[in-house]
Amino acid sequence: MAKTPRVVVAGAGPVGLLTALALAKRDISVLVLEAEPGLTVDLRAGTYHPPSLEMMAPYGITDEMHKTAIPVPRWQIRDRKEGVIVEWDVTLIKDLTPYPYRLHLEQHRLTPILHSKLAECPNAEVRFSHEVTDFSQDAGKVTVTARTPGGVEKFDAEWLVGADGGRSTVRKCMGVGFEGYTWPERFLVASTTYDYEPHGYTLNAYVADPVDWNAMFKMPGDGPPGMWRVLFPVAPEEDEMAALSERNVERLMQGFQPKAGSYPIMYKSIYKVHQRVASDFRAGRALLAGDAAHLNNPIGAFGLNGGIHDAINLAEKLSRVCRGEGDAGLLDLYVRQRRTVNLEYVQEYSVRNLKRLIAKTEAERRQNFEELREAAATVEGRRNFLLVSSMIASVRRANAIT
Ligand SMILES: Cc1cc2nc3c(=O)[nH]c(=O)nc-3n(C[C@H](O)[C@H](O)[C@H](O)COP(=O)(O)OP(=O)(O)OC[C@H]3O[C@@H](n4cnc5c(N)ncnc54)[C@H](O)[C@@H]3O)c2cc1C
Repeated sequence: MAKTPRVVVAGAGPVGLLTALALAKRDISVLVLEAEPGLTVDLRAGTYHPPSLEMMAPYGITDEMHKTAIPVPRWQIRDRKEGVIVEWDVTLIKDLTPYPYRLHLEQHRLTPILHSKLAECPNAEVRFSHEVTDFSQDAGKVTVTARTPGGVEKFDAEWLVGADGGRSTVRKCMGVGFEGYTWPERFLVASTTYDYEPHGYTLNAYVADPVDWNAMFKMPGDGPPGMWRVLFPVAPEEDEMAALSERNVERLMQGFQPKAGSYPIMYKSIYKVHQRVASDFRAGRALLAGDAAHLNNPIGAFGLNGGIHDAINLAEKLSRVCRGEGDAGLLDLYVRQRRTVNLEYVQEYSVRNLKRLIAKTEAERRQNFEELREAAATVEGRRNFLLVSSMIASVRRANAIT
């Protein structure tokens, strides 16, 4: 790689790695600085929508993912008592995408694919244990400061992309706000080898309940037969240790699908959920993408997918700016497109999706179910719902912004 990269990317999460790969493939030298000593492996996102698969396909990532991922052409919205309210068939929009399904693959199985593709690029480098702590900029360059095993180091580049997650240091140094709110409930995720499919659950299902709603995802795990991730709410007043206790997790699992004997639990954790969007995604030579720019609850799987859409949109425009094919106004277009759809679409629909699951009153619940059944009653209604839930509508909206 050239001594001075043209772009420094902070963060080797999925968004940082994909941004770097898409830049490197466009002949832009790039250096990724990652605070951790290696790629992170905790259980996070794992559902990919058709536009994300289309965007990653030219880099060979989508084919690589399909070797172990699970295609999910049908998914359900259910009620704990009533059972299936609607079942959506994504193949109904097969005329609009070569990938008419949701694809399930753990995020920590995507990042090694991205990392190995990046390693093949002579103009790209990833440095682990390099924590970005600050940056400064002038008219011609950005200087990034990082804490490294060898002490504090400085890196010059033309541009800095902050893909350093929800607590982004780059965003804080840019001085932009991160407006929004944190949900009072935390989310508990548990994974089990118990198979729900024989009980009629599709490989992705959302189960409404005024108290213990849940969301379910069949994931590849270490290989067939895979495992199920189940997500539950944790009440604001509930103690974290008590919520994670064997007894409580067993109570939650038995609550929506009773079975003889206890559930085998392979993993469990709790995390906080936010709805926030940065007040700007750009400050001069610094740009934000992925969780550094926006956070949302995971119902509907818009977070990582939105980050993937940021990465490709930004790399396409930034590479043109680097090559002198356009001015920095292109980067403002990136912000207009991606920030607008995050506000109008990701925030709006992720909140709507979660509210649908947690509705407390009988009247609210009835209204939600009626709306869903009405949407599913006609082919046009089903297609419209699928356009939104698969994020095709958001990508079209972003592309329409000039
Ligand atoms: C605990 C948790 C659970 C989640 N569960 C779900 C889920 O169930 N479903 C869903 O759809 N989404 C989920 N998400 C959201 C989803 O994982 C994110 O949208 C996705 O990870 C965004 O990718 P990213 O690359 O923008 O950020 P990240 O994946 O957070 O990557 C950021 C990277 O930057 C690094 N970094 C941080 N600070 C610095 C620094 N100063 N310098 C250098 N490197 C730095 C981090 O170590 C990390 O590797 C979850 C998120 C979290 C945090």
